[in-house]
Amino acid sequence: MTRRQVNRLTAKPFRPTASDVRRWTQVINCILFHGELPPYRKIKVRRLHAKYALVQCHEGRQKNYCNIEIHNRFDTFGCFFSILAHELIHVADFMHYGDTKRPDHGRFFFSHRELMKNIGLRLGCGY
Ligand SMILES: [Zn+2]
Repeated sequence: MTRRQVNRLTAKPFRPTASDVRRWTQVINCILFHGELPPYRKIKVRRLHAKYALVQCHEGRQKNYCNIEIHNRFDTFGCFFSILAHELIHVADFMHYGDTKRPDHGRFFFSHRELMKNIGLRLGCGY
C-alpha cells in the first residue's frame, strides 16, 4: 500500500459504532495492559459536547466496572484510537486504585506516556 492509499484510508472522518469501540478497546487493552482490563459494560456512541469521551467508573457488588460514552464522529481513525487509549488508562487507574473519584490526569496517567509513545500515540489531557 502506498502512503497515499494509507492517507486516503486514515485521513477521512471516522464514525465509530459500539462494536468498533469494543473491538479497538480490546486491541489497546492487549497492547498496553496485557488484556487485563475488563471490557466496558455499557458503550454509548452519541454526539457529545465539548468532549470526545467520558468514562464512568462504578464499584460493582463483585467487580468494579466502567461504562463509556463516546462521540460519534472523529476527524480520523487515529484520533479515535488515541482517545480510546486515553480513556483506557483512566479505566486502568480505577481498576488499580478502585477510587471512583480518581480518574484524573495525575502521576498514574502520565506514567503511561512512554508506553504510548512507543505505539505512536501522544498522551494529552484535553479530554
Ligand atoms: Zn482524560
